[in-house]
Amino acid sequence: MNENINKTKSAILKNIPSIDSLLKIPKAIKWLKEYPRNLVLKALRDAVDTKRTEILSGESQTVTVTSLISIAKDRLSAHTSFSLRPVINATGIVIHTNLGRAPLCKSAIENTALVASGYSTLEYDLKTGKRGKRYVHIQGILRDLTAAEDAFVVNNNAAAVFLCLIALAKGREVIISRGELVEIGGSFRIPDIMAHTGAVLKEIGTTNKTHLYDYERAITENTAVILKVHRSNFQITGFTEEVGIEEIAAVAKRAGIPVMYDLGSGCLADLLPYRMHDEPVVGNIVKKGVDIITFSADKLLGGPQCGVIVGRKDLIEAVRTHPLARMVRVDKFAISALEATLMEYVDADKSFKNIPVLRMLTEDIKEIKKRAVRLAAGIKGQTSGSLEVAMIKDSSYAGGGSLPGHEFATYAVTLRPKGQTVNELEARLRSSNPPVIARIRGDMLVLDARTVNDKEVKAIIDMSKTWRVA
Ligand SMILES: *Cc1c(COP(=O)(O)O)cnc(C)c1O
Repeated sequence: MNENINKTKSAILKNIPSIDSLLKIPKAIKWLKEYPRNLVLKALRDAVDTKRTEILSGESQTVTVTSLISIAKDRLSAHTSFSLRPVINATGIVIHTNLGRAPLCKSAIENTALVASGYSTLEYDLKTGKRGKRYVHIQGILRDLTAAEDAFVVNNNAAAVFLCLIALAKGREVIISRGELVEIGGSFRIPDIMAHTGAVLKEIGTTNKTHLYDYERAITENTAVILKVHRSNFQITGFTEEVGIEEIAAVAKRAGIPVMYDLGSGCLADLLPYRMHDEPVVGNIVKKGVDIITFSADKLLGGPQCGVIVGRKDLIEAVRTHPLARMVRVDKFAISALEATLMEYVDADKSFKNIPVLRMLTEDIKEIKKRAVRLAAGIKGQTSGSLEVAMIKDSSYAGGGSLPGHEFATYAVTLRPKGQTVNELEARLRSSNPPVIARIRGDMLVLDARTVNDKEVKAIIDMSKTWRVA
């Protein structure tokens, strides 16, 4: 029996055409005109190898040229298309870390493209004709926007926290409340970071309560910094007590110790008028007497990936001149995008219009509803009954460790598939071009209109005819 199967398999294997004969097929001849010869060869060899494996495993019993060409076509397009590419975010999570966090504002995109396409003043002082520093481009504007004495930028906020602790507290103690020993995004844990900086973690209080006297009693000769960490991605509710940053700053000042605040999501705009209270504004924290503040530029700020450090001149100088600063240096693309994004904040009203993150978070629900209505009607028209399309009132979230627990009322389109499972439908959306990322809820797919712009609404509607079952 086994022998028979093996005999059949080897007979089928003999049907696999040679690469040379495949190269003579019109499709392959066409590819050879469009793509480099080595890529076409690789794709065809991959197709033959895949087929051979399928036959040996019993998964496939036939060999046709069409099936080989189809596999080769997939391989060719995989080899010739980008891996990092745009997607449509229909999750409603505005700062979605897996989807690249903040989309840049128009001026940042333009400025970065300009700087990227030629030479620039990155480290060149036009006034003196001498070598300059890359940080000067954002130093002045960050000082203006936050009223801090000085500013510095590194690769991301994790690097900012690490660099500050190593520069200011190595070999000495850092006081932190047990309620703030947080983990952010899996790989960033305050106790682990601390251990690697060589600073000694001095935990105070309990998970739910830390009092001012806990801070006062913990201060010794060996205290380097009092650290406060914003609970970006969770809330502690119930029987809790937390010491205000103003009181901590006062205690620290009396003892002559700097206070550092890891704000996580650095918010430069006042979101209070939009009834979003949980996120501290950087400028207000500076005013409260905090000596050194770190935050991400690609969360609520809405810029490129950077870690921003603002605060007291002498402390920033110590951070800037530390040898590790060179290793977490920010590149020219980030600096140019950050400078342009920060410029939008000079006019507060403009910033809410022009910075996509702020615009999406504060958009009038009537506008979101209009897009949802268009999206639902469009998809319905294209899928002719193979999907049950509806519109619902729903909630979006800021994401990216910002405004935890804050729900934003929104409108979403729900798709309930017929003749395919919701997982199959979700996979179809994911393999569309551009891919559409949506959320599964029970037996339906939910597309939040908050994070989908007008152009994308149109693209989704056009693509939706391919979501029917074949
Ligand atoms: C997000 C976050 C970080 C890490 O910032 P990255 O810019 O992602 O490196 C650190 N601390 C807090 C409190 C955060 O919210």
